[in-house]
Amino acid sequence: MEDGLVKAIDLGGTLRAAVACTTQLVEEARQRHSLSYTATAALGRALTGAALVTSMVSRSGRVTMKFNGNGPLGKIVVDARGSGSVVGYVENPNVELPLNSLGNFDISRAVGRQGYLHVTVDSGFGAPHTSSVELRSGEIGEDINHYLVASEQTGSVMIVGVHVTRSGVVAAGGLMAQLLPDHTEETICGLENGLATLGSLTFLLRQGLSLPEILNRALQGFELQKLMSMQKLQFKCNCSYERFVQALGVLNKQDLINMAEDPGLAEGRCHFCNAMYHVERENLLDLAQNYGGGQIG
Ligand code: ZN
Repeated sequence: MEDGLVKAIDLGGTLRAAVACTTQLVEEARQRHSLSYTATAALGRALTGAALVTSMVSRSGRVTMKFNGNGPLGKIVVDARGSGSVVGYVENPNVELPLNSLGNFDISRAVGRQGYLHVTVDSGFGAPHTSSVELRSGEIGEDINHYLVASEQTGSVMIVGVHVTRSGVVAAGGLMAQLLPDHTEETICGLENGLATLGSLTFLLRQGLSLPEILNRALQGFELQKLMSMQKLQFKCNCSYERFVQALGVLNKQDLINMAEDPGLAEGRCHFCNAMYHVERENLLDLAQNYGGGQIG
């Protein structure tokens, strides 16, 4: 199935939900960053969770999350846009841990159970808003949900999953549901029942269920209105050679000339997508000529 996100609202105004398939974008993250299994599962969950939270912002909006836990993976940073571009990285992508007692990747230990999740939401209107919550479990989904409950002041559910095997990411996806002001006890029971019988999300994706089918199954008993056609999701970074060159423009003229002489080029790597940029000697000298001029320093 193609990566994407579908959102829906209950016609009775009791809840809203979104479901996402992120298999290809998590696989791309795995390959670009040479992620271990553990890091694939952890970053994949974070990428999926951030993508789901973009269902609350406009197409020009953006959601950035930084998981700063005390586990060996170090920081996990993800950036998802309302337009469907999702990107992110793990500080220590090679860390591998033994499976936990349930036979699953030990994400909680890898991320760390202590630390903070910092979230910046730019809804696309007005100034971006940043807030932080303590990590709940380091399981990612639960931590994002903790943030949602704290910031939205309403009950919600966040499920994120990544199924990765020796051949790569087989399925990745997630589901988010949020209670709306008109919800009742019945809404909560209905949601709990639907989720209790849903089974594993990555299993359903592997079975070939479509995103609307998964939503209907999770929210059986609710009359859902699909809010829009599927929003495509993809691993896509905003970096470019031009931006890298632009960033070099803040150096002063002499620094650029020194760099052109030794080592004879400028190199930089984008944290988010691992793309490598090189600016050759000639171009550095051009830059020194045209932009350097000692704007800074
Ligand atoms: Zn990049």
